[in-house]
Amino acid sequence: MNLPVSYADVIAAAARLQGAAHRTPVLTSSTADARTGAKLFFKPENLQRMGAFKFRGAYNAIARLEGDARKRGVLAFSSGNHAQAIALAGRLLGVPATIVMPSDAPAIKLAATRGYGAEVITYDRMAEDREALAKRIAAERGLALIPPYDHADVIAGQGTAAKELIEDAGPLDILFVCTGGGGLVSGCALAAHALAPGCRVIAVEPEAGNDVQQSFRKGEIVRIPVPRTIADGAQTQAPGQLTFPIIRALVADVLTVSDAALVEAMRFFIATMKIVVEPTGCLGAAAAFGGQIDLAGKRVGVVLSGGNVDPAALARHLA
Ligand SMILES: *Cc1c(COP(=O)(O)O)cnc(C)c1O
Repeated sequence: MNLPVSYADVIAAAARLQGAAHRTPVLTSSTADARTGAKLFFKPENLQRMGAFKFRGAYNAIARLEGDARKRGVLAFSSGNHAQAIALAGRLLGVPATIVMPSDAPAIKLAATRGYGAEVITYDRMAEDREALAKRIAAERGLALIPPYDHADVIAGQGTAAKELIEDAGPLDILFVCTGGGGLVSGCALAAHALAPGCRVIAVEPEAGNDVQQSFRKGEIVRIPVPRTIADGAQTQAPGQLTFPIIRALVADVLTVSDAALVEAMRFFIATMKIVVEPTGCLGAAAAFGGQIDLAGKRVGVVLSGGNVDPAALARHLA
């Protein structure tokens, strides 16, 4: 198969991440098993550095820069986990990071990104196009632009999450992975395909924003308006040019879940497993719990992608 990223790239990323990223544990729950009839293996990337799997791809991409490119630094545009991932990875690798964020981004996120040592450039969301702005700044300053998902080194880095899960939990019949632009699920599918042949990788996205599902069914990239959902990490409008061919080739199906099901899953993780998982991070679990696929007797992996939810927002969701 001629795909833009290979499992060899995931192995190389794992070597770069050794000692830099946490090898997050595998969690199990007899309550979740009883509910689904399956043996579930959770990969809690909410416990990853900066609170999400995005650290993996960001670190791998920055670590690959050489010479002058490394000295000049990197630029990302994001208001979410990718911003913090690039900021932290840049600091750890001694590479200057610049992040373009909307001026009305939550103060806590602006502060966290600056706290990791990045230079934050804000822009007016109503008046300026962030992508054009980011490209202009990157060109002016000679910075390497690192996008949140559509980048080979980012995809390879994200794939290390599933590599670790299968190495630590053993072979899987099914693997649920949330998807926004598809960096995480495409990387994880590369790892699952290599390490657990026969494992069905299921991508999961919010009901309100099923761009990946529509694209998957149609066999070409479908673009949708910005979806309204509490899964803010999956408010993407289309899968990527690199991620989509991998999804088409290696993902078995794309499911959707409602925001209400995400809240139920968040409640389960807090009440039963004592972990905080952000709404987007619950997509895979909500699909596993939702019964759309019969899991009885199966060994099932579930990637919990992150845990960055503002405590006040969390309280509102659970109220
Ligand atoms: C970015 C993000 C996603 C979506 O990842 P993609 O690689 O864009 O599919 C899912 N969950 C969390 C917590 C994220 O930060």
